[in-house]
Amino acid sequence: DELSNKIAAGEVVERPASVIKELLENSVDANSKWIKVDLEEAGLRTIKVIDDGDGIEPEDCQKAFFRHATSKIVDEFDLFRVKTLGFRGEALASISSVSQLTLRTSTGDQSGTELIVHGGEIKEKQKHTKRKGTEIIVENLFYNTPARLKYLKTIHTELGHITDTINKMALSHPNIRFECYHNGKRIFFSPGTGNLLQVVQQIYGKNIAQNMLKINEYSLDYKISGYIAKPEITRSNRNFISLIVNGRFIKNPVINKAIFDGYHTFLPIGRYPVVVLQIEMDPYLVDVNVHPAKTEVRFSKEKELFDIVKQAIYEVLHQQRL
Ligand code: ADP
Ligand code: MG
Repeated sequence: DELSNKIAAGEVVERPASVIKELLENSVDANSKWIKVDLEEAGLRTIKVIDDGDGIEPEDCQKAFFRHATSKIVDEFDLFRVKTLGFRGEALASISSVSQLTLRTSTGDQSGTELIVHGGEIKEKQKHTKRKGTEIIVENLFYNTPARLKYLKTIHTELGHITDTINKMALSHPNIRFECYHNGKRIFFSPGTGNLLQVVQQIYGKNIAQNMLKINEYSLDYKISGYIAKPEITRSNRNFISLIVNGRFIKNPVINKAIFDGYHTFLPIGRYPVVVLQIEMDPYLVDVNVHPAKTEVRFSKEKELFDIVKQAIYEVLHQQRL
């Protein structure tokens, strides 16, 4: 019902950046190759996300806005097999309960659908002609939850969170072309060629991109790849450490520790490395259902992972020394 949607919304939808994160995850799950984000006033007035993905069948559109109606989890064992970024089936229900939302979608092989939802209530549903893909427009976010609206910071701060979100999505999906516009001006672009280093360059600049060392390491259960900056390039905080597990951007203290141990004496005290680490593994070995934001995970073979990450970093740094 509407109240539980609003309560759930507080968990999933904290600020414009969290709306964008959920919409981008849906576009990625729909196999999009191109995703465009168009914002006005740091997303507080308008968030528009357009993709060229699979689209939604007309008969499934309404269902997409019911909480858990789309949950991809069938039983508890399913949690360990999660391959899509979204699986709780609550993002669209939550977002639409605290905004004025328009969905336009088409699977390409029949006429598309337009659905208008205000504050969780379906206002209009009609046929719509559109090429294959989905467009979601979120207007006047938190218009009916004034307490949440008050909690938001300046346009500048909110835009910072948004940039952070889009950077993370682009780093975890180098094969998808991302574009982001704010008040008509392009603020982000990644070419979608599958080349991670090109995305690194878009985000961190040419100097860092040209001073990255390639990682490549295998163990029985893990494949570790990505880049670390040469040890002379360091930062004063850990925000430049990106961890990507099976295409999902995560936070994890154990892997962070392994990276630091791998750097060992190469890292001056109080300095942090620039790292983009991709870890691939059987989805059975990672539990992503620890937190609604899905950024915290639990590994079942933590020690093996720790050792292989530490070794991967150590080896790359020592090789370049020689
Ligand atoms: P979840 O992603 O956890 O399944 P969401 O509320 O985020 O739940 O989305 C509900 C459903 O709507 C998705 O499972 C998907 O079927 C559909 N959907 C949402 N966005 C898109 C999109 N951009 N393209 C195709 N389908 C989408
Ligand atoms: Mg989702």
